[in-house]
Amino acid sequence: MKILVTGGAGYIGSHTVRALREKGHTVIVLDNLSRGHRGAVPGDVRLITEDIHHVDAVRQLLIEEHIEAVMHFAAHSQVGESMENPTIYYDNNVVGTYYLLEAIRQAHVPYVVFSSTAAVYGEPEQTPITEDMPYAPTNVYGQTKLMIEHMLAQFSRAYGLRYVALRYFNAAGAAADGTIGEDHTPETHLIPLILQTALGQRKSIKIFGTDYPTPDGTCIRDYIHVTDLAAAHVRVLEYLAGGGESQYFNLGTQQGMSVRQMIDAAKKVTGREFAVEEAPRRAGDPAILIASSAKIQAVTGWKPTHSSVETIMADAWRWHHTHEHGYGDTK
Ligand code: UDP
Repeated sequence: MKILVTGGAGYIGSHTVRALREKGHTVIVLDNLSRGHRGAVPGDVRLITEDIHHVDAVRQLLIEEHIEAVMHFAAHSQVGESMENPTIYYDNNVVGTYYLLEAIRQAHVPYVVFSSTAAVYGEPEQTPITEDMPYAPTNVYGQTKLMIEHMLAQFSRAYGLRYVALRYFNAAGAAADGTIGEDHTPETHLIPLILQTALGQRKSIKIFGTDYPTPDGTCIRDYIHVTDLAAAHVRVLEYLAGGGESQYFNLGTQQGMSVRQMIDAAKKVTGREFAVEEAPRRAGDPAILIASSAKIQAVTGWKPTHSSVETIMADAWRWHHTHEHGYGDTK
């Protein structure tokens, strides 16, 4: 198929571009490079530095290129930033996606795969989290993704668009060959911060909260390898193209790891010692977030195969220690 990947110069988008091409699909990347990296897009993939708000330009592209599906990753994704500056999240994520969907509707593209998030559930009382649990986002980022899911459902009912929304848990790791990986500025995610500490770029890694009701007192998350995430996108595209109906799926591994376990794993993989500090809780962090992935496994046959903590950490380390400054641009 011929697929437009918005945000294909970003972390999860760039790994999905690779997975799509490995399955023989043709890919065009649309990215305004506000957060993405030119270096994350292979030289032989067409990169269009356009913004999803530009409905006429995007519609023209979809029609001219005979695009058969859109994978939509282009979004801002930092929880803290979304609380301090909600307007850019509503504009970029909600308004931008509205214009993109409008271009998709006008160009009659039949399928959309959307990057959603576990943040739509907020702080659920039960674990593992299943798709039927109530929506209760606790931050603006999660709220914008939920609004987009509603928009997709309404476009689907009214105009026949078919879509899958994938609710990611904690995306982690990097391509096994070390050529693409995670590069955010500022970095707020646990694994890159631990590895930057192992590299000596930071003085210490802070554990945000050691008094949670978990076995070692630190938060538990469901870390899923970005290669497994990428493979799930290919699976759900095949599911849609094969006649599957619109759906949303959790994407996680059903396994939880604590912050301390992640730090220990990083020490083992890197062979380096580094300073660990106990710090107060970070506002809004639930104690435990673990996905049930039963639904996507049953419907599409997808299974995580790279998401052991050792593989995640080894692949992330290969990327970080060979790219100490990420892609080397300033973003
Ligand atoms: N965390 C931490 N120290 C850090 C960054 C994160 O202890 O410097 C914790 C954070 O409180 C959470 C977990 O690591 O429990 C994963 O955080 P991250 O920001 O990577 O992802 P999130 O779960 O917030 O999406």
